[in-house]
Amino acid sequence: MNRWCVAVVLIAALLCVGIAGAERPVKEPVDKLVFVHYKDAARAPPAGDQTASYKLMGMKWKQFPVSYTVNTANTCGLTAGAVGENVQAAFSAWDASTSRALFGTGGLTSAAPAVGRNDVFWGPIEDRNVIAVTTVWYTRGSKEIVEADIQLNAYLTWGIDANGEVPGYALANAYDVRNIVTHEAGHVCGLADLYAVRASELTMYGYGGLGEVKKDSLEAGDVAGLRKLYGA
Ligand SMILES: [Zn+2]
Repeated sequence: MNRWCVAVVLIAALLCVGIAGAERPVKEPVDKLVFVHYKDAARAPPAGDQTASYKLMGMKWKQFPVSYTVNTANTCGLTAGAVGENVQAAFSAWDASTSRALFGTGGLTSAAPAVGRNDVFWGPIEDRNVIAVTTVWYTRGSKEIVEADIQLNAYLTWGIDANGEVPGYALANAYDVRNIVTHEAGHVCGLADLYAVRASELTMYGYGGLGEVKKDSLEAGDVAGLRKLYGA
């Protein structure tokens, strides 16, 4: 057995142990994908340039509705009600664009993220260029998403545009909760990042910025990708 095979066997063994320990209700090995949302102050994308492009992760949910739980604890003075409302608006943007009843809210919590629950929460990420990280767990064989967590970087300043997508949003030195969570919720759906500048107006564009609110609304490519997964 060569070194590569040993590594694969070890990883498989570790995964099995992990699943047994966590009592995850699936019988197949589970893998995960991690999406890191970086800030990109350097780019100045052309306004209004949209494409109908999307990129699928290759896995999707098969049991609905998918409920998510929000831990609203933050150090930016955002109220629990406002955070909950804006996270819900973010998930609803996707839900409203497919006939499938995708998401159901699991409510608010003060508990730490847990295995088997889809959590949205703030947690520290050392790299201040990372706005958020979404981790998606899926079964290796049937490519079914079984869990997804969204971690917002607690080291950054977060804000809420009270009126939704407003041009000239005043919180220029904060990351808008709804804007970023809408992008991350796209990963939860099964969509991957797009990095081409021509995709910069799409919600699934892989970079985000301070005061940005344009990801609140889905564009043609975002909706096309969603519908490819879950129907019109
Ligand atoms: Zn992303």
